[in-house]
Amino acid sequence: MTLSVHDLVACYPGQARRALGGVTFEAPAGATLAIVGPSGAGKTTLLRIVAGLVRAQHGDVRLDGISLARLPPQERRAALVFQDDALLPAMTVRENLRFATSRASLRPVERDARIDAATAALHVPARALERHPGRLSGGERQRVAIARALLSDPRVLLLDEPLAHLDPSLRRSVRNEIAGVHQRFAGPVLYVTHDHEDALSVGDRLAVLIAGRVEDFGEPQRVYDSPGNLTVARFLGARPMNLFEHNGMVVGIRPERVRVAEGSLSGRIARRETTGADVFFDVETERGCIVARTPAGSDLRPGDEIALELPERWMRRFDRATGEARA
Ligand code: ADP
Repeated sequence: MTLSVHDLVACYPGQARRALGGVTFEAPAGATLAIVGPSGAGKTTLLRIVAGLVRAQHGDVRLDGISLARLPPQERRAALVFQDDALLPAMTVRENLRFATSRASLRPVERDARIDAATAALHVPARALERHPGRLSGGERQRVAIARALLSDPRVLLLDEPLAHLDPSLRRSVRNEIAGVHQRFAGPVLYVTHDHEDALSVGDRLAVLIAGRVEDFGEPQRVYDSPGNLTVARFLGARPMNLFEHNGMVVGIRPERVRVAEGSLSGRIARRETTGADVFFDVETERGCIVARTPAGSDLRPGDEIALELPERWMRRFDRATGEARA
């Protein structure tokens, strides 16, 4: 079951800028496509169009080549999970999940068996099923919301920032459950996030959506190491790529690829920032300010003169006029 979207254009009434300006990609079955982009990029709009909740002005959404355009939301079988997904507060978690499976013609025992299996797969503790949603932790609620989506027997799973309100340790564990969702779900998953780390770790494929356009698409490590254009180089990564002009081109290198204290480019440390595991140095050089990342433990300080090496193998070149990556 491949999901393909073709040339989707969306605009909201009264908005001068289009929310989506011609978005095309394919998401194969059994894989998670992470869609990363800043706030306002059009990510939610895209998911809502696939789910049938928002109408595109142009373009098509297809499942195995068959257009969903004429199908109302309930017949598309595209399950949408969003941040803070609401479970009905007056029902226990199990009752919420029974409600989600109520359309399937199952006997009550079978239904409960499916609920037990789906929640166990997402590591929802069995005792949580008999509680009301208000008594679950944020991570449990979000896992239940994903289990509920899977129990509705979808053909496509759409996850809209499902980790946005979780604290870091919960984020990691729910992220792992999401990465493992394909053990139980054979269809395509679209996972929308503004968080680079989430996108790079959850996605089998990565699409970078900026201002309503897919600026890059591919294997996450490739997109990170060799962004397709300058827009992506400036956006993706905890720190963006260092970019500077050289021989009529724009040249880029990631901070962690810059070697500190062993090269031919001299500079002076302007700033030092420690993150715990790493230290980032902003270094003033003849090529401009270059950010270098090294493992923590360095005793270099602002004001120190140092030498940098920019290994050729990690340098990326971009066309100055078009911004496109060059071979
Ligand atoms: P994202 O999910 O990436 O933050 P959205 O899809 O929510 O982006 O929004 C894309 C653009 O569409 C933004 O400029 C936003 O302001 C606009 N937009 C989204 N929803 C509406 C709406 N209901 N009415 C008008 N404009 C909207």
